[in-house]
Amino acid sequence: MVSWKDLRFVNTFAQLPAVFYSRLAPAPYAENYLVAINPAAAQLLNLDIDARSLSADQLAGLDLPSTCEPLAMLYAGHQFGSYVPQLGDGRALVLGDVYGADGALWELQLKGAGPTPYSRRGDGRAVLRSSIREFLGCEAMHGLGVPTTRALSITGSDEPVYREQVETAATVLRFAPTHVRFGSFEVHYYRNQHANIKILADYIIARHYPEIAVHPQPYLEFLSHVIARTARLIAQWQAVGFTHGVMNSDNMSILGLTMDYGPFGFMDAYNPGYNCNHSDSGGRYSFDQQPSIGLWNLACLAQTLIPLISVEDAKAALARYEEVFDAHYFALMTAKLGLVQADDEARALVTTLLEIMAKNNVDYTLFLRRLGGFSSVSQDRNAELRDMFLDREAFDAWAGRYAARLMRTNCDAAARKRRMLGVNPKYVLRNYMAQSAIEKAQQKDFSEVEALLRVLQQPFAEHPAYAHYADYPPAWAEQIELSCSS
Ligand code: AMP
Ligand code: MG
Repeated sequence: MVSWKDLRFVNTFAQLPAVFYSRLAPAPYAENYLVAINPAAAQLLNLDIDARSLSADQLAGLDLPSTCEPLAMLYAGHQFGSYVPQLGDGRALVLGDVYGADGALWELQLKGAGPTPYSRRGDGRAVLRSSIREFLGCEAMHGLGVPTTRALSITGSDEPVYREQVETAATVLRFAPTHVRFGSFEVHYYRNQHANIKILADYIIARHYPEIAVHPQPYLEFLSHVIARTARLIAQWQAVGFTHGVMNSDNMSILGLTMDYGPFGFMDAYNPGYNCNHSDSGGRYSFDQQPSIGLWNLACLAQTLIPLISVEDAKAALARYEEVFDAHYFALMTAKLGLVQADDEARALVTTLLEIMAKNNVDYTLFLRRLGGFSSVSQDRNAELRDMFLDREAFDAWAGRYAARLMRTNCDAAARKRRMLGVNPKYVLRNYMAQSAIEKAQQKDFSEVEALLRVLQQPFAEHPAYAHYADYPPAWAEQIELSCSS
């Protein structure tokens, strides 16, 4: 374990040519308090978080370790379908990379630490509300086994920040192997600076895809890897009922990680058209659009690699996306139903179940968790599941087919239940849960953030003291509106 001031930053991104970033120091507030710290993340980073060796001011960016070379990354991106020529880290700074306890290099980023040359009209700050959502959101995804950026801490300050209302400021210290995005490539393509695309691709391949460095067509192989990772990531989003909310190409990780948590949402009732972003009136980024938007964004990335690969090869690589997505999605959903083979019958059971859940507004997480207790021999024991549907006959018809399948293939109900409890979470971060933690935190009570962190990091465990979070959301949850404002 090392103390904060002894962290040795390696600064690999800072060794790239200056065109890729702007160097600058953070502009933290003078007084900061600790809102939350994530012990699991600290352990991974090999960081001593004992209060005697680490202060809130340090986590907010005051008193950076001497080896740190902070910078804001340059990127561009397609936002809601239109190309925006320059975005970049408008309120986040890369502090550099540090070696974790696992021997891997982790890139640390401080979000909300003041304006950068890429802030455009923004103030460079983040509010407490959105910082708590990012912190809990990414750790919840990690707990569910979904690739994501991680978060170490949130610090708060009483300084006002102006959004739709006056709020208070916060910073999140987040980390990932890299925060490079599709948009990091796009900016150089549209500026006709094609040599930079090769430099950036070589940097990412050397650090994150070393196995393809010796491949005869490394850039095509790189694209294929990003396509496969993105397809698998979005399959996981669909399987856990997660909607990102702002799938602009600048929010798409080159490593296939969930990143830039904004107005994201976990579904309550299953609704394919679920749109958690109030600013997205056209529903471009609604739940059922995510798989095709993933491909759309990958096409934007592929375009930037045209100086390095042929159009035909890029098209052929993109053409494999759907197959990877589909296979991974049905494998996950089949397992959630406790079935072993993802064959045509299993796919039909998944598809029909989702159809009747949508028609009956059935709670996605709750139903699948309870489905572990399904009995293929006693209808009576399925009464609770059945009662979740208004159209009982639709449930009965599906349950009959499901029971027949279970009886034909794997009869050991206890083993099936165990498997299902390991893939169907008891807890997801529903919007109302984040909202409750936020409202308490705004009153300086951070206990709910800490409690939710603990529960969501192990979402398949029972946590009997928090069973109220494994129930239906309260009625007021429907009134929560999330926008891009953060
Ligand atoms: P997002 O949709 O949150 O991923 O952000 C899109 C772009 O806007 C990125 O370049 C962000 O850095 C920038 N941005 C968002 N909020 C702010 C802010 N308060 N100050 C400066 N830049 C911001
Ligand atoms: Mg972003």
